[in-house]
Amino acid sequence: MPKKNACAARVAAMTDDEFTELAAAVDERRCRDEYGFGTYAEAAALYRPDPACPSCGAAEPSRDGWSESGLQRYRCESCGTRFNSLTGTVLEHCRKELATWVGFVNLMRFNVPLDAAAETCRVTHQTAWEWRHRIFAAVDGCQERIVLKDRVWIDETYVNDTDLAHGYGEARKRGLSKQKLCIAVAIDVHKNPVAVVCGHGKPSAKRIRDGLQSHIAEGSTIVGDKEKSHDSLVRAVKGTHEAYRADVGDPVYLERMSLVNNLCSWLKRYLWRFTGMDPKNLQSYLNWYVYLFRVNQARDRWPETERVVRHLLMTDARFHSST
Ligand SMILES: [Zn+2]
Repeated sequence: MPKKNACAARVAAMTDDEFTELAAAVDERRCRDEYGFGTYAEAAALYRPDPACPSCGAAEPSRDGWSESGLQRYRCESCGTRFNSLTGTVLEHCRKELATWVGFVNLMRFNVPLDAAAETCRVTHQTAWEWRHRIFAAVDGCQERIVLKDRVWIDETYVNDTDLAHGYGEARKRGLSKQKLCIAVAIDVHKNPVAVVCGHGKPSAKRIRDGLQSHIAEGSTIVGDKEKSHDSLVRAVKGTHEAYRADVGDPVYLERMSLVNNLCSWLKRYLWRFTGMDPKNLQSYLNWYVYLFRVNQARDRWPETERVVRHLLMTDARFHSST
């Protein structure tokens, strides 16, 4: 038998309102104990101590009191804009407690279905959908700065538009490659990945080059299957080409390409979880995948959830609810 809980009688005697407040206070404290911040104000003080003006970008705004929820308020000396420490981040105007958000980030790290996240966090499906896209908005620029180097494996993988939108096994016209969205995938010897949407159907040399060139350092060795469409990319990055004939029955080919082949299959397995997505959001899902890949790699040095919350606070981004 578990030991009698000393708080049980007091909790049982509470009114519904008191109980709701207690639950929120417990969540707040647990969040603080685990991650080092319990409220938006505490997280903002840690990660966004003196933000630049969101209107004109001027640094060192004057402090201008506190908001009701304890957020530092500012007034810009140059343009007069008043704002607080969350203005211009995706956490601005968030009506739920930070602990609820942190719980949602935790579930998103495991890519649980939206319905499960909504129910666990006690928010509506619509709110969960919006939060997912707020997080995407903060992470969307992350891949742009990734540059792979030294030895870089590249490949293409395909997903079906209609599969993304309606589910697998849906009736569709077979063999119509125009329905397939191409994802150009690359990973280097340091295990940095990149994944970019590369249009419909089999990509031309130009589309491959446009998709990957900015992500590969000059002079890299590009390893891929014997695809003519890779030549232009190799020339553009002044790299050397190492090409193997694609043959899944050949153990040498499989071993040499295993890193990028694995990445392609992980990526597909990940995307299958989001059946029902709008294909025009595919790049955002890929950005989140690549972002998480890196967060998970560094988990020993940097706990994942703290890092994601820090990122949300430090990134100027806006969520547009147009869709
Ligand atoms: Zn200003």
